[in-house]
Amino acid sequence: MKFSELGEFKFIERISHHYPSTNPFVIKGIGDDAAVMSVSRDSVILVTTDQLIEGFHFQLAATEGWKLGWKALAVNLSDVAAMGGTPVGYTLSLGIPTRRVSLTFLDEFYRGLSRLGKKETVALLGGDTSESGERLTISISVIGTALREQVVYRNGANDGDDIYVTGWLGDASVGLKLIERGEKTTEALELIERHLCPTPRTREGRLLAEKGIPTAMIDVSDGLLADLNHILHQSGLGAEIELSALPLSQAFRSCAAPCSADPLMLALGGGEDYELLFSASIGRREEIEGICEDLSCPITRIGRLSKEIQGILLKDKQGMTRKADPLGYDHFKTNRTSS
Ligand code: ADP
Ligand code: MG
Repeated sequence: MKFSELGEFKFIERISHHYPSTNPFVIKGIGDDAAVMSVSRDSVILVTTDQLIEGFHFQLAATEGWKLGWKALAVNLSDVAAMGGTPVGYTLSLGIPTRRVSLTFLDEFYRGLSRLGKKETVALLGGDTSESGERLTISISVIGTALREQVVYRNGANDGDDIYVTGWLGDASVGLKLIERGEKTTEALELIERHLCPTPRTREGRLLAEKGIPTAMIDVSDGLLADLNHILHQSGLGAEIELSALPLSQAFRSCAAPCSADPLMLALGGGEDYELLFSASIGRREEIEGICEDLSCPITRIGRLSKEIQGILLKDKQGMTRKADPLGYDHFKTNRTSS
């Protein structure tokens, strides 16, 4: 079978099926935003890894060195946030095409890493360096901690739970399109920044987990529908999404229309927003509204989970529902043109 027929997610399922963990300290191996390992009765260690490859995840000409460093770390911190954990440190492996990438660029890259690392109190622990010939490749692994009881998995959602998302949806994918179109208005630059320099929602993830609010959580890296699908698949549920409730930024509302025939699809299927998507019992609604006042981004209720629904239903303002196509980014099925 070809990779394109199998798809990225089935490929990963195949690996986890053939190579299950045999170590008793591993609480969760493959299949969540981070692996979870027992270190004591009350505490766990979290480990996650994500790579950025030139030509697929970024184009050197479209970013600045420090922004690339920031993003490489941010996308990994986002996975620890999605488990409700606290990141502690990271390792960094670089494949450098030394004929094309300058030392100055890499100094800037490290400056971006360090800037986010300081903000999040996360230390660079080590790494590996190699010549890579043609493409700059960046691989980061983040190690975090959490209290065992507070870790949030993808599989804990319950029938009837509400669905919430932090921040705004679709900004990063519109930002990418605006880079390609060479747009430079203030609102375009705001969205481009959301694509180049995502904010990992570490504080939000930890606060929610400390209060025991999310029953399941994931970060939106591949697109809302694709990532919601992981929760649904692992929790054995379906979902209804209220289209009019989707949190769309002012900049998205101004800039999305020329970028797509159906801008809403950019909010539903566009990746790389690195927002947190979680489910919570209806009984926690007031508490969640209260938390929002202490945070720098909104948390919006966008739908509900149900065992009566198959897949994802999209409900419009008039109350009409239609089934969602499986949108989202799959590395083996799409040709990414990223910045
Ligand atoms: P995320 O988008 O949260 O980073 P991924 O979709 O990349 O998650 O990965 C989903 C799960 O599959 C994670 O547990 C990840 O560690 C695991 N995974 C991804 N690629 C591989 C691989 N090549 N070998 C083993 N596990 C993998
Ligand atoms: Mg993730």
